[in-house]
Amino acid sequence: PGEPFESRLLFAAEVAAFAHRGQTRKNRQAAPYINHPLNVAGILLREVGLLEDGDASRRPAHEDAILAGILHDVVEDTDFTLDHIRLYFGDSVAKVVDEATSNTALSKSDRKLDQITSGPMKSYPGRLVKLADKVSNLRDLLLDQPRTWSAERVLAYFAWSHAVCAGMRGTHPRLDALLDDIWQSTITLE
Ligand code: NDP
Ligand code: ZN
Repeated sequence: PGEPFESRLLFAAEVAAFAHRGQTRKNRQAAPYINHPLNVAGILLREVGLLEDGDASRRPAHEDAILAGILHDVVEDTDFTLDHIRLYFGDSVAKVVDEATSNTALSKSDRKLDQITSGPMKSYPGRLVKLADKVSNLRDLLLDQPRTWSAERVLAYFAWSHAVCAGMRGTHPRLDALLDDIWQSTITLE
């Protein structure tokens, strides 16, 4: 906090790349895991254009969403904690990362249900990150499916994601449009 945004952005990338070291995405290409959080932040920055928003009052929430986008899987999938995020990036970014982290006290199927019901209750930057995360994961699935996933499992993932995103529709018109493009292209999956 207090530092220029570019400097915090690069530091977030450095922290996330280190935290996710050695992890790969579940796809045939086995891309480095860090590609995904960088993609989520890139969707918010380039495709949603969060920093081009004319409404200056939303700037802090938009900066938090982009930083939390890079860090969104760090607490769930690495040994970094929310306290580390709070120390390096402040309370507001940590809160958004917390909103992006699934409750590991729940079983995997309860976590799936929880994402549907908790989405609409999240903060504005929390919803931006969750929606951009879905855009990134669904596009990855359209391009390159995990070797171990059946066609049914891919379709089930799309159906569940559709329900999660429906609860957060209206958060940002650009994200609604990016998701609509994805739902359109899934018509050809069946
Ligand atoms: P998922 O099946 O939900 O796996 C998807 C998650 O993996 C994404 O949300 C994403 O999370 C991450 N991921 C990593 N690489 C990719 C990629 N290339 N494309 C898209 N997503 C990627 O998670 P679990 O392994 O936790 O599975 C548990 C659930 O899956 C069960 O509760 C069950 O419902 C379902 N399942 C269904 C089966 C079926 O055949 N229908 C079989 C087995 C399980 P992130 O954004 O955090 O990286
Ligand atoms: Zn993710």
